[in-house]
Amino acid sequence: MKVGILGGGQLGQMMAWAAHPLGIQTTVLDPAANPCAAPLCEHIRGEFEDLQALYALSQVSDAITYEFENVPIETARWLAERVAVYPPPRALEVSQDRIVEKTFFQSLHIPTPPFAAVDTRADFEAAIQRIGLPAVMKTRRFGYDGKGQAVIRTPADAEAAWASLNGRPLILEGFVPFVRELSILAVRSQTGESKFYPLVENEHRDGMLHKSLAPAPNLTHELQNEAETYAHRVLEALDYVGVLAIEWFDVGGHLIANEMAPRVHNSGHWTIEGAVTSQFENHMRAVMGLPLGATDLLGHSVMFNLIGDHPPFADILKMHRAKLHWYGKEPRPRRKIGHVTFTIDTAEEREAIVREWDQVLPLPPSK
Ligand code: AMP
Repeated sequence: MKVGILGGGQLGQMMAWAAHPLGIQTTVLDPAANPCAAPLCEHIRGEFEDLQALYALSQVSDAITYEFENVPIETARWLAERVAVYPPPRALEVSQDRIVEKTFFQSLHIPTPPFAAVDTRADFEAAIQRIGLPAVMKTRRFGYDGKGQAVIRTPADAEAAWASLNGRPLILEGFVPFVRELSILAVRSQTGESKFYPLVENEHRDGMLHKSLAPAPNLTHELQNEAETYAHRVLEALDYVGVLAIEWFDVGGHLIANEMAPRVHNSGHWTIEGAVTSQFENHMRAVMGLPLGATDLLGHSVMFNLIGDHPPFADILKMHRAKLHWYGKEPRPRRKIGHVTFTIDTAEEREAIVREWDQVLPLPPSK
């Protein structure tokens, strides 16, 4: 069994790692000379539009998947004519454009913030009139980790947002006064079986994921059911295969969809230690047409991202139950270079770990 992966970053690395005990060989296509997945699998060096490299990947793959949602859609379709591509290219198309994505959610009766497409100054003014302030302006495409967005609270903010973002296709969204941010990881097999992990509570810092708590504190059956019902609609509508992440705003017991990622996701890294089957293993199982593994929890987990500088390794490893994942990337400001997961018996013990972590790695003030 052979899986090709577009992208050899940390997600490709963790997929390759999960594939190995299942007897699945992996090959990543990545333009970098030494991407972080390379020590664990075969590596074809090439751009994602390079037909020769894509052809070479298709020749060594029974199925192809990807680690990032900005895979050029032409690439996914070209490959899909030669070899199975999972998740389906349509899922990429939906997630690459925030207007298409929110329109798709609405077509499935999944709540979203109010939104409007903005291309011209007249669109912008009409959108502010209709949606009101506060609002959030974002680029329609290629936004990630909080890049390409601006919160608009005042007319002066509106001018600044327009000056910095105009010229690209934009979306204006109503600002959601959320209590917390959640995400769900779902997986669907080639036979149409779906499984879900429990909702995770995510804390972002400067637009990047800092911490995930799984299960989310005080998670009710009602909220979990709501997330699973919505996620199931998305899986079925796309005839989806593989892991899907959907991010939500919790507005006091109800969910509003923010965005989806048709891939394994940073808010699911805790599943390596914290669930019977990790998101990476379940993704590989789905892509290879194997039965899915159980998504049951093994305890209460917390995951912290390591971002930017070299962290104090020894201090982290001294912490009880710390499981370090180091991606082997050069540290750089705002770069995810690793993560640490703790899985423990109770929510109270997890809280104690969070307090200890905040002492070992105090956060710099938010920008
Ligand atoms: P996104 O790139 O869409 O995930 O946005 C990055 C972060 O900005 C989210 O995780 C939220 O913290 C915040 N955010 C995005 N959209 C909204 C919104 N409509 N209302 C309130 N906060 C938002």
